[in-house]
Order: sequence, then structure tokens, then C-alpha cells
Amino acid sequence: MAKLTPQEIADRASDFFKLGFYPLVDIKPVKRGKCRKKTKCVSIPEWVFKYEYPFIVYYISHEVVHFVVWKHDAKFKEHERSILKTWGIEIEYKRAYPKTLRYKGKTINLDQKA
Ligand SMILES: [Zn+2]
Repeated sequence: MAKLTPQEIADRASDFFKLGFYPLVDIKPVKRGKCRKKTKCVSIPEWVFKYEYPFIVYYISHEVVHFVVWKHDAKFKEHERSILKTWGIEIEYKRAYPKTLRYKGKTINLDQKA
């Protein structure tokens, strides 16, 4: 997997969903990510970058999907699944979040920091 920057990951998702704008990626020491519709910005917690790259891709893509669908409903998951598929990432859900992420068949560690 070619390692794009966090901003490039978000830009790629924006192109995929034809958002018509590129949300600014703001990396912060926060607990949870956020999609800010008004300012067209996604906040990504710093801790995300301690995980394997496919998880980083997942996390940033997830926040960008919120520009398409606000709630974590079936439509949201369908969009999330389709953007992740373009990266070769498969997701299995536990409610709104991944129970399992796989990159090219390899399970990504979601419990322990890489
Ligand atoms: Zn979310």
C-alpha cells in the first residue's frame, strides 16, 4: 500500500465521494475524531497514528464518510465499505465501528498499538 499523507487519504475519499471540496485534516491530541461540516474539517486524534497504516486509512476515511452520511446507519456503512474496498481493506462491524479490519486478508491489530 502506497503511504499517502493523512491529507492525501482524505482527498482521495473526497474524490471518491465527489464531495466537491477537500476537507482539511486537523491532527490533534483529542480522544475521538470529529467531522465538522461547517468548517469542512476533520479532526483526527494523534493516537490513531500509533496504529498500522490500514487503520489510519480507515479512521480518516470514516470521518470523511460523515460528509456524505451523518449517522452511522446502513447507508453510512455501505459508503465506508466501498471506500475501504478501493484500498483493499475489508471491515466487519461491531455496531458503528470495526470489530475486524483486514488488509489483503491480513488482520489489522485494533487492540494493541503497533
Ligand atoms: Zn463516525
